[in-house]
Amino acid sequence: MMKTTDTMPRKDGAGSNRREITRRGLLGGALSLAAAGPILGSSAGAILGSSAALASGHRADETTASPGCREWTQPTDADFAAIVGKSKVEFLDRAFSVIEKEVAPKTLEGVRSGSKLFGGAVLDKADLSTVVVATNTEAENPLLHGEITLVNTYYAIPKAERPPVKRCIFISTHEPCPLCIAGITWGGFDNFFFLWTYEDSRDEYGIPHDLEMLDQIFRCPEGSYNEKNKYFSAWSLRDLIPGASSEEQKRFDAQVARLKRTYADLSEIYQKAKAAGTGADVPLK
Ligand SMILES: [Zn+2]
Repeated sequence: MMKTTDTMPRKDGAGSNRREITRRGLLGGALSLAAAGPILGSSAGAILGSSAALASGHRADETTASPGCREWTQPTDADFAAIVGKSKVEFLDRAFSVIEKEVAPKTLEGVRSGSKLFGGAVLDKADLSTVVVATNTEAENPLLHGEITLVNTYYAIPKAERPPVKRCIFISTHEPCPLCIAGITWGGFDNFFFLWTYEDSRDEYGIPHDLEMLDQIFRCPEGSYNEKNKYFSAWSLRDLIPGASSEEQKRFDAQVARLKRTYADLSEIYQKAKAAGTGADVPLK
């Protein structure tokens, strides 16, 4: 089902996608708590009056155990048209093709060096041509995730020779982790698209850190983040497929199935190296 509403009401459970339902349901809970009372209740106000609370800048009262979140917003078809400027079919054709023909082969080199299987590409909005392709290079440094390496590779092109960042589309093979979402944002991109979700990273590729960090650090146990905000709009590529004709959907579904096999192969190489202790020397594997 297409994500076509601009602002998702927090108690709306509609949606065909498992992640969409669970994330929305969870946010509903958090927001309901926030709406249940003012952020600074009387006891919270008293605590804020203490020097310790003022020094930390944090509210530490039970009434603020679940501070309010911004309402969860998702991009619309109009946002897609404004940002991409192409039909969804034309865009998906290019996005899947660049992953299959350019990102995956490069990622094969990366996993052979012991790095994870995350990668991506920057495309020029003008003609959807490839600007740069990159993959995870954590064998060099654990912060060099696929998307961070992609941002670095893009900015390594001399300014006069690269398309301006607002004319670029950012494609990631996997839903970007908190580090990479921030990297894409600080990098100035106004969009990102991903193929595999956080749940795929955990369940299919044995890498649970995205969801765990969002839960442990940001207190978003279902991996929620604002998919439309003042900086960027983000889409799952697979969520765009139902917008195509049934014939085209079959073609895209077959392409995704092929990519799933490709990434299963890449994952096997990575996991074997990890098990053998020959993978990249990184703290979080
Ligand atoms: Zn990352």
